[in-house]
Amino acid sequence: MQLDRILQSQGFGSRKECRKLVRDGEVKISGEVMTDPFIELDENGLVFEVGDWEWEYSEKIYIALYKPAGYECSHKPKHNETIYHLLPEPVVARDAQSVGRLDVDTTGLLLFSDDGQFIHAISSAKRQVTKSYRATTAQPVEAAQIAALIAGVQLHDEPEIVAALEARQVGERQIELVIDHGKYHLVKRMIAAAGNHVEQLHRYAVGALSLEDGSLPELGPEDWCYLRPKHLALLG
Ligand code: URA
Repeated sequence: MQLDRILQSQGFGSRKECRKLVRDGEVKISGEVMTDPFIELDENGLVFEVGDWEWEYSEKIYIALYKPAGYECSHKPKHNETIYHLLPEPVVARDAQSVGRLDVDTTGLLLFSDDGQFIHAISSAKRQVTKSYRATTAQPVEAAQIAALIAGVQLHDEPEIVAALEARQVGERQIELVIDHGKYHLVKRMIAAAGNHVEQLHRYAVGALSLEDGSLPELGPEDWCYLRPKHLALLG
């Protein structure tokens, strides 16, 4: 593919803007400044630098972000910054969307992609990719609350009871629970229905992809990384 087309496909602007990037000496491959925007290259596995950033060509993009508190998972946030400000511009330009949403005050693992099928597969109720959360609660956790989460709780606006796949107490005021639904405020509503209240919520894993067991590169709040095939395989 021509270099200007490669850059355009990766979110670096219009073809005209991409040609200018090359002519301005902003694009390097293997340390060499590219001068010809029309040069034909094999895009597969191509690694290139634009300014200070190193990029790898990908037909579709898959990203993991450690979401900090205080960001809305929306392009049009109402009261806070948008989560999309934490992603590099070319990723946003490629129209990568978050795979599901986390509340403004929830922290942890959030995936993004421009691959509609992938987004659907991970968020779909049928596929049942698990999501693992750690909740800090207002009151000390009681055994009966854990039992209720596992047995299933009745939520106000849901016809059927909703159960966690796993729930365990991990601290005086901490619960870890694994669910396979993606409903609005689900963990907070489940814990409220079990008789406690969530003060802080952190998602530490999606499927077998975890922020805490080395399955991803080490990420701190606001950090992101590309998801490679070996990571995607952990999503089941
Ligand atoms: N459940 C919630 O209540 N909030 C989230 O952000 C995610 C799951």
